[in-house]
Amino acid sequence: MRINLARLKLRPQQSEKFYLEEQGNNVYLQGTGCTFLDKIAVELQVENTGRMFLARGNIKTVLGLPCSRCLRDTSTAIDTDIELTMARAGLAGKPDADDETIIFHGDMVDLSIPVHEAVFMAIPIIPLCRPECKGLCPVCGKDLNQGTCSCSQKEIDPRWEKLKNL
Ligand SMILES: [Zn+2]
Ligand SMILES: [Zn+2]
Repeated sequence: MRINLARLKLRPQQSEKFYLEEQGNNVYLQGTGCTFLDKIAVELQVENTGRMFLARGNIKTVLGLPCSRCLRDTSTAIDTDIELTMARAGLAGKPDADDETIIFHGDMVDLSIPVHEAVFMAIPIIPLCRPECKGLCPVCGKDLNQGTCSCSQKEIDPRWEKLKNL
């Protein structure tokens, strides 16, 4: 997932739009239970400030992940913002270059890592297959979306109801 800054490099104080599309790499999602169900689409507006390249844009993709209540596979559309600072090697170390700055050589900048990181940060903490998902019975494990079980006849203390949804 690379952008070519050859043209923009020669035009300080100007900006250029970039569109990138690439299949997401599941290696970056390890340990989250998520997988990519669609390409990652990135739209970036990159500005050449003279010393740095500032990129602002948006990332869209679709992730597959288990519902946190009923554990069924579900999908979530990710739509998140991204902001990046890039600097050519040699110009780095200037006062306005910080640790977050991506240092690159030549004209091509690889954005695979920051883009995947932004997707990672956008993973929902409590993914649900649908907002009204009833989840599993905490006693027998039956999927309550498919009907009630004999244990759920008993009254559940409303104070536990909130905890169940966590
Ligand atoms: Zn569910
Ligand atoms: Zn039950």
